[in-house]
Amino acid sequence: MIEKLIEKYNYPDDLANFLRDLYPWLIEYFGSDKKDIIDAMFLDTPIFTNTNSYEIVKKYGDLENLGIVKEDDFKRASGVCSFDVDVIWENGEYKIDKYKRAVSVSGDIAEERVKSDLIHEICHAIKTYYNGFVICGDILIERDGLIIRRSKLVNDTDRVRKVFLEEHNVAFEEGLNSLAEEWLAKKVIAPDYEVKGYGLITQMARNVVRGLDCLQELVNAQIYKTDVDFIPEYDRLMAISDLIYQKNLELFEAIFDKEKFNKINAELQSMIINDYNPLIKEIITTKVER
Ligand SMILES: [Zn+2]
Repeated sequence: MIEKLIEKYNYPDDLANFLRDLYPWLIEYFGSDKKDIIDAMFLDTPIFTNTNSYEIVKKYGDLENLGIVKEDDFKRASGVCSFDVDVIWENGEYKIDKYKRAVSVSGDIAEERVKSDLIHEICHAIKTYYNGFVICGDILIERDGLIIRRSKLVNDTDRVRKVFLEEHNVAFEEGLNSLAEEWLAKKVIAPDYEVKGYGLITQMARNVVRGLDCLQELVNAQIYKTDVDFIPEYDRLMAISDLIYQKNLELFEAIFDKEKFNKINAELQSMIINDYNPLIKEIITTKVER
């Protein structure tokens, strides 16, 4: 499969070799029952290295319809997994006309940072592939692992427009994706690799995975988009995690304003101590009692 892929996109040798190393570990991590999904994703998703992520999102994604991640975040991003659909209005209903997918990283694959970014984005791409887009009436539902994003479809004269409504479970999904990145990077980059980005939310995901010993069930839910009924208080956990994630983003933005930074940091710590920690404790105890 991997040779077919390399030939299809004519990948340069260094990228081809990296994909040859990574591929068997992806199957190992996600499970051999996901092989067909992983193969199909690779064949449908071009990978770009030494590329500006923002330009890729412009071409393969949707900059008009953004949720938590904003346009400027893409300008700063060192890697991106971009996916979108073109929707048409036909015979009185909305239909998916065309899928757009791409993965890109901003540097040379020889660099360790670029390798780990690429692993991270490939994991997103795998988790968006199966049932990633569903239309219900005039609502487009996008799924990237556990992330659920809803947009309203509007039939303009020349094209169908998407208007962002809501997005959930971003923090927990990014945390889990970073855990996947770490596991895979330990295999193909360095045995002592530690994930660098998303420190706080990675730790939050680690707490749940370790406390409930539910990684395989989570991977299945991420790929197949099935319900997460094995985590008690799942909706509450997702909501609190997203709030903490947003606070953490605000904190980064306030980095040069000491007063504001301290205020946001105090709010963040209070959310963790008063809301998040008791909830995690409750979730893990509930599991033990079952
Ligand atoms: Zn990510």
